[in-house]
Amino acid sequence: MENIPYKIYLTEDELPKAWYNLRSAMKTKPAPLLNPGTHEPMSAADLAPVFCDELIAQELDNDTPYFEIPKEIYDFYKMYRPSPLVRAYCLEKAMDTPAHIYYKFEGNNTSGSHKLNSAIAQAYYAKKQGLKGVTTETGAGQWGTALSMACSYFQLDCKVFMVKVSYEQKPFRREVMRVYGADVTPSPSETTNVGKKILEAHPGTTGSLGCAISEAVEVAVSNPGYRYVLGSVLNQVLLHQSVIGLETEAALKKYDIVPDIIIGCAGGGSNLGGLISPFMRDKIEGKLNARIVAVEPASCPSFTRGVYAYDFCDTGMVCPLAKMYTLGSNFIPAPNHAGGLRYHGMSPVLSQLYDDGLMEAVSVPQTEVFKAAEAFARVEGILPAPESSHAIKVAMDEAAKCRETGEAKNIVFGLTGTGYFDLVAYEKFHNGVMDDYIPTDAELQASFDGLPKF
Ligand SMILES: *Cc1c(COP(=O)(O)O)cnc(C)c1O
Repeated sequence: MENIPYKIYLTEDELPKAWYNLRSAMKTKPAPLLNPGTHEPMSAADLAPVFCDELIAQELDNDTPYFEIPKEIYDFYKMYRPSPLVRAYCLEKAMDTPAHIYYKFEGNNTSGSHKLNSAIAQAYYAKKQGLKGVTTETGAGQWGTALSMACSYFQLDCKVFMVKVSYEQKPFRREVMRVYGADVTPSPSETTNVGKKILEAHPGTTGSLGCAISEAVEVAVSNPGYRYVLGSVLNQVLLHQSVIGLETEAALKKYDIVPDIIIGCAGGGSNLGGLISPFMRDKIEGKLNARIVAVEPASCPSFTRGVYAYDFCDTGMVCPLAKMYTLGSNFIPAPNHAGGLRYHGMSPVLSQLYDDGLMEAVSVPQTEVFKAAEAFARVEGILPAPESSHAIKVAMDEAAKCRETGEAKNIVFGLTGTGYFDLVAYEKFHNGVMDDYIPTDAELQASFDGLPKF
């Protein structure tokens, strides 16, 4: 019997004291955000009406390796961090694989996902700047829930635009947000100009993250004392999420474990970007030879079928342009059940790393993901979020390959959250009525045709 415990816990003192900025190690830096009018890089002054000042400084800084975690945020982190790194002994046994499987579990907080790591940071900087409140969008609702918790902790007003399909499918998430005092509006809505326009152009639309972002930005810039905050994609969010990777690195080091494969689901790229931060640095510096794999839904395949180009971050085209792997900001994905992975674009940091050949990507159909989720739940106990289950699926595929080759590879994956609010999806899976819609090349091309040209 090996002496690696089921759960590798860090002590409170071992919680990272600083976030790590992976951009500082990148040889090719991610492309800058561009002003949609002038096509010039966005300056701090350009971004100031939309984002909080200190978050802008973090967003634009490609060089500083470490940012100290302010005490107020650190104290909040202590309520639910460090999170455990779990050795999936039961899954290994059930699969009869020689692989060693580890997962970093981020579902141990009320919001149920990793998003709280950045929500608390963003709320803190808004409070520090003396703002009244923040606006945001939420897809499946995890980000809105996390932000509501963070805002109530710092007594900030929180206005959430929730993608309509999720608002209707996930009434319980909406109520959790209201418990924490947030104001929740289904998007697209009649409460904003951009919402009205989108509703005119697409009557009956179930919404998308891109639409909800446009509405949230409009409300932030037109109300004094408000700024907009975003739960993924941006450089600052990956910076805050580096706490996941730093803890994983510290836990693995305790037992001299060197990862061979690191896997994470990718919606906008924040959990994966955070998880891989220190490992990607080592890979860039030639000190680690691990494979790094992004997993995305076949219904929204930004990396695997998208193009690397400047695109709008939102449907209303009010946000800066970001260079990223994208399906086009007009792309409205089929209403699949991994709501947190339904974004048309991808983090500019991860996009550059992928373009540089430093990471891989695979896409997987929805029912395969739920099969893996259920197999995992039955042996490991945790009810995984559909988003997280994309990583489970590919981790299990890799472990199955090890069974064929007899290799005892160290597989590490991010288990980003729990699925208690996703039981409608599990119900559809059980009843055999879950669909696996995959966009056609023609549909994607129609969306690429709408990419900004310059
Ligand atoms: C939002 C979310 C994701 C996807 O977002 P990323 O920014 O790509 O990490 C994954 N898992 C869960 C549980 C989420 O809530």
